[in-house]
Amino acid sequence: MDILKNIQGVRDCIKKAALLVDRDPSEITLVGVTKKKSMELVQEAADNNLLDFGENYVQEAREKIPGIKGAVTWHFIGRLQTNKAKYVVSLFDMIHSVDSIKLADELNKHAQRSNRHIKILLEVNLAGEETKAGFPAEDVLSAIEYITGLPYINIRGLMTMPPYFNDPEKARPYFKKLKKLRDSINKSLKNTQALQHLSMGMSGDYEVAVQEGATIVRVGTAIFGQRF
Ligand SMILES: *Cc1c(COP(=O)(O)O)cnc(C)c1O
Repeated sequence: MDILKNIQGVRDCIKKAALLVDRDPSEITLVGVTKKKSMELVQEAADNNLLDFGENYVQEAREKIPGIKGAVTWHFIGRLQTNKAKYVVSLFDMIHSVDSIKLADELNKHAQRSNRHIKILLEVNLAGEETKAGFPAEDVLSAIEYITGLPYINIRGLMTMPPYFNDPEKARPYFKKLKKLRDSINKSLKNTQALQHLSMGMSGDYEVAVQEGATIVRVGTAIFGQRF
């Protein structure tokens, strides 16, 4: 497998999708999702100038992250139990999967203890799927109003995972919804930093997500191959 070629291919597709809708490709961050992939593969990607990585599992991340060399930014994208909040605060730069007030409180507490500010995104469950985490769309604004009061937490945007479809076009309405939600929240927030990020799009649908406003795409399989 040619990691460099895969990274380049994904970057090219991001660029095409962005230009198609008159967006500046440089405002989109490619996060390489490395769950279940070896440190050697991660290091190879980092050596080839992919500098943002996403991990899903706390234990796996604790084993891998300290061993990766380079100016790498780590994104936590998996489900996070409150009792593991203390680990992610020291290992990760951004937590994409904040799905409860309780978790935000816990992250704030541990960030304060290590005197560190942590960037977060709120995960939104747009389809109301029971198997998926995330705030219902109607609860996001009040959650943000509360979390804005937590001094060690910086809310930077929203994240979503639409239901799985074979046809990426079917995911498009969910991406549109997340952008609309972010834009309406930015309108109603006063004296607060506007939400910048939309973390949406994976290997099967990131081009559609970019067309709909994604600022962060999370791509695993298309770069690192299938997971077993
Ligand atoms: C695994 C995972 C991805 C990457 O999925 P691919 O289809 O392999 O690109 C993206 N986001 C989240 C939250 C994931 O768990």
